Amino acid sequence: MIQSLLIANRGEIACRVIRTARRLGIRTIAVYSDADTTALHVREADEAVHIGPSPAAESYLDGQRIIRAAKDSGAQAIHPGYGFLSENADFAEAVKAAGLIWVGPDAKSIRAMGLKDAAKKLMQDAGVPTTPGYLGKDQSPDTLKAKADEIGYPVLIKAVAGGGGKGMRRVDDPSDFADMLASCKREASASFSDDRVLIEKYILTPRHIEVQIFGDAQGNVVHLFERDCTLQRRHQKVIEEAPAPGMSNEAREAICAAAVRAAQAVDYVGAGTVEFIADASQGLSADRTWFMEMNTRLQVEHPVTEAITGQDLVEWQLRVASGEPLPCTQDDLSIHGYAIEARLYAEDPVTGFLPSTGPLRVFSLPDDIRCDSAVMAGDEVTPFYDPMIAKLIVHEETRAAAIDTLAEAIDDVAIWPVKTNAAFLRNCLLSDEFRDATVTTGYIGDHLETLAGAAEPSEAAWWIGAGARAHIDGTAEYRDPYDVWSQWSGFRLNAPSRSLTAVVHKGEVRVFDLVQSPPDPFLPREIDSDGILVFENGNAFLFETPHALARTGASASDGEIKAPMPGKVIAVDIAQGDSVANGQKLLTLEAMKMEHTLTAPFDGTVSELSAEAGSQVKEGTLLIRIEPAKSTDAAADAKDG
Ligand code: ADP
Ligand code: ADP
Ligand code: MG
Repeated sequence: MIQSLLIANRGEIACRVIRTARRLGIRTIAVYSDADTTALHVREADEAVHIGPSPAAESYLDGQRIIRAAKDSGAQAIHPGYGFLSENADFAEAVKAAGLIWVGPDAKSIRAMGLKDAAKKLMQDAGVPTTPGYLGKDQSPDTLKAKADEIGYPVLIKAVAGGGGKGMRRVDDPSDFADMLASCKREASASFSDDRVLIEKYILTPRHIEVQIFGDAQGNVVHLFERDCTLQRRHQKVIEEAPAPGMSNEAREAICAAAVRAAQAVDYVGAGTVEFIADASQGLSADRTWFMEMNTRLQVEHPVTEAITGQDLVEWQLRVASGEPLPCTQDDLSIHGYAIEARLYAEDPVTGFLPSTGPLRVFSLPDDIRCDSAVMAGDEVTPFYDPMIAKLIVHEETRAAAIDTLAEAIDDVAIWPVKTNAAFLRNCLLSDEFRDATVTTGYIGDHLETLAGAAEPSEAAWWIGAGARAHIDGTAEYRDPYDVWSQWSGFRLNAPSRSLTAVVHKGEVRVFDLVQSPPDPFLPREIDSDGILVFENGNAFLFETPHALARTGASASDGEIKAPMPGKVIAVDIAQGDSVANGQKLLTLEAMKMEHTLTAPFDGTVSELSAEAGSQVKEGTLLIRIEPAKSTDAAADAKDG
């Protein structure tokens, strides 16, 4: 068995590999760029080697530096994770040439599957059904167009060197073909330095089905059943599950056998995935399922396979790389229950899924399911790499239970101020179509507005947030139907600069203190925002306190009465020029179907009145200004004393 292992990757997959290696007693060596000096994978490894500046091209993609790091640190083997150099045949060769063990398939197998056109030809020869299409060398636009016409629309133009959902264009109308081809070639050239394309029939009612396969150096190949990765956004997987809902034993056997044939055709050693596209218009069947491509590495979604088979695929990889035979035969493997994985990204669905970067002041994941995480509270999400920050994985006896467990787990996700896709994931999981397993790869694109729209806090969340803030402010009547204060014992009124955080889960409130004894040296000691954060259904709602409002505008003690939340003014009890007493009712605001009374913070005169009964106001709108009465300062001093 390998004794020491360098992991040529970062993020959750580096942490994932380290976890198994540690269990097996293997010394682990991380590599890191400038941006990752304090990253989680660096902290978790036994040793870490700096390999260059933040841009991946100058660090994680610099094969020579990584090999040097392995030699310098005395590593015996290199695990590439996924992405980066994992499917780079030249790198695999260089690793071996340097006398190191490559945890992955032979360079020859990677090359055979590296280009989509060559891989499809190879599969056709091995008797594996492939999507109908054109794989020829002639790349002239006229030939490609003629082939597309022959295949029949819709067609998919695909970069032969493509990956990660890039370099693909669907064409429905022949008159769009030329433009789509040009744009596909531009993207392929920029992303993969190779503008060659193939043309494929676009499969309608498409479901993405893939098979996990594993080979060893003794020539054994097994499959570990299928995964369904149909829920995608722009050809990129969002939620994955195993087994595929609605898969009959007969179809499973045929598809998995085709995957094993594919692996055998390239003398495959290690973990690999054979991807198929299925026309699900009449359910799943082997004769309507076609080979798309093979990924010659461990896949992001491998945990769902681990869950249903009870195997550790990283352990298999390390054993096979050490020369051991596969730990299991095909007959030893069977499916237990249902597993679902959701990819948690630092991105904002509301703004079209723009990546969200910055420090993770709050980062809390559910503690009762498997979470393969890339970060911890206090870490920073940088703009340099893939924004996936964690994977949430559940395993239950039934698919319905797995959906419910994962949706509930997402309710416990508390992340701030970085934005995430947690609520979007929850919406996808809880859609009727996902539950009924009638989704196709176009489902998310067709339902973006409902799945990715901005959310409003529920009544309970509102009471905790806006209600609690008004309580601190002291300017509003307050009742606390959720009894937040008694749950959060550390909180004191007028305490300086502290943040209260609550998670609302099915109307039940869990409150926690952000500044209590951080166990980790990298966690910041002080959260510098004065606000009440309420997490609900994967959303983060911030209700700023007067402290915070005071920093951004005039202070409440100046007598500015601002709308503490968006709402409707339903009654104004005073008029311009009126004298008012401390605590006197000024105005009633309706928000979240509840009435909220704003009162005078001190004795004074109404010097400005911009609120009007019946009008809608935004949060922070100036409603009333109170000019303090002359004796106010003395009165306030007296009160404080
Ligand atoms: P999976 O099926 O495992 O999601 P993907 O092909 O979507 O496989 O990509 C896996 C990881 O590798 C993702 O993090 C993705 O961003 C990255 N990746 C995929 N292809 C490329 C590529 N050509 N260049 C750089 N990164 C890539
Ligand atoms: P990548 O290397 O980027 O992962 P794939 O060939 O695996 O490229 O395709 C990515 C996704 O695009 C698939 O998961 C599927 O949703 C969609 N797709 C690919 N080929 C077809 C096709 N012929 N018909 C319909 N959808 C397809
Ligand atoms: Mg793919």
